Amino acid sequence: MRMLVLPGDGIGPEIMAQNSRVLQTLNKKYRLGIIFDERTIGLTALKQKDSTFPEEVLNAAKNADATILGPVSTFQYPSKEEGGVSPSATLRIELDLYANIRPNRTRGNVPSVIKQMDMVIVRENTEGFYADRNMFLGSGEFMPTKDIALSVRKITFNGSQRIAKKAFEISIRRRKKVTIVHKANVLKMTDGLFLAAAREVAEGYPDVEVEDLIVDAAAAHIIRRSQDFDVLLTTNMYGDILSDEAAELSGGLGLGGSINVGDSRGIAQAAHGSAPDIEGKGIANPTALMMSTASLLDWLGERHQRLDFRLAAEQFNRAVDEVLSDPVNHTPDLGGRNSTIQFGNEVIAKIDQ
Ligand code: NAD
Repeated sequence: MRMLVLPGDGIGPEIMAQNSRVLQTLNKKYRLGIIFDERTIGLTALKQKDSTFPEEVLNAAKNADATILGPVSTFQYPSKEEGGVSPSATLRIELDLYANIRPNRTRGNVPSVIKQMDMVIVRENTEGFYADRNMFLGSGEFMPTKDIALSVRKITFNGSQRIAKKAFEISIRRRKKVTIVHKANVLKMTDGLFLAAAREVAEGYPDVEVEDLIVDAAAAHIIRRSQDFDVLLTTNMYGDILSDEAAELSGGLGLGGSINVGDSRGIAQAAHGSAPDIEGKGIANPTALMMSTASLLDWLGERHQRLDFRLAAEQFNRAVDEVLSDPVNHTPDLGGRNSTIQFGNEVIAKIDQ
């Protein structure tokens, strides 16, 4: 199994180093046979190769079974003409990773704003308002004159149906409830199409309870009654925003794991960004990247019918949960004093036990 590792920008290399140590421990323990290929992307690659995402890295991702992508400082990237290419956007489009799956849950002993949450946000990942990737050619964002800026949002029936199927498939292995989040009261055509596609898919899952919520109400209800949600199905931008909200409510951005998957490829990627404010301090929380990687192992296990991968994923999750259950292990974002490296040491110690 070939695994591409891309540390990324900001805190990316710090959290990736600990994630890779844990993964190598599991690789050895479960004899997974993962062959790692680590490449440089982001602002370091821009200096060395004039691109934040060199072509050869994209080819390596196409040839790998899976990729672990660290956070990238896209806001700091120069224009495309000057070498600023978003690794995240390029990989999602080139590998057709149409589903972004973002679980969030509260844990005992991890301080959180709300009491209980255990939900998965299933976010469409290739269309919507993301102007840098939603067009076949050109950009979905343009300026007809210097004082007018326009963005085009793309919603397709097929794209909406395939993400809806993913959400319903996930829900039947969980509490069998899907909440469709939209803004069809205003965006009657685009969100109306998304809602219609999702409702049609829902008919094939009679055992799953279905409700729908308008996105602004959903943002409030997630705070008010977080425990009521199981799978939340939504479009690209709403999913991005709501998943940061959910991560923060359940303990913090450092906890929000995610995977981007299509029908044949998968990428682990924390929901958070490159956190430039704490870069180089050695205090970033590696949990989100670790949870993402555990999800990726599980996805690989299911896809290739490899029980060893599923067991490794289970142990990875358990080890992180056990470490987090003792506040003495927490990193500063959770109110603790542990460093990123100490956190990695604790997770490895749990796996070795
Ligand atoms: P951010 O998620 O990087 O940071 C927001 C806040 O959360 C900061 O205070 C940060 O310190 C904290 N935080 C985030 N992850 C943490 C972790 N693992 N441990 C401890 N604290 C953590 O969001 P931002 O500041 O808006 O964006 C910074 C850069 O990241 C920008 O260039 C943006 O474009 C990029 N970004 C990348 C991704 C991605 O790669 N998937 C996602 C979002 C933002």
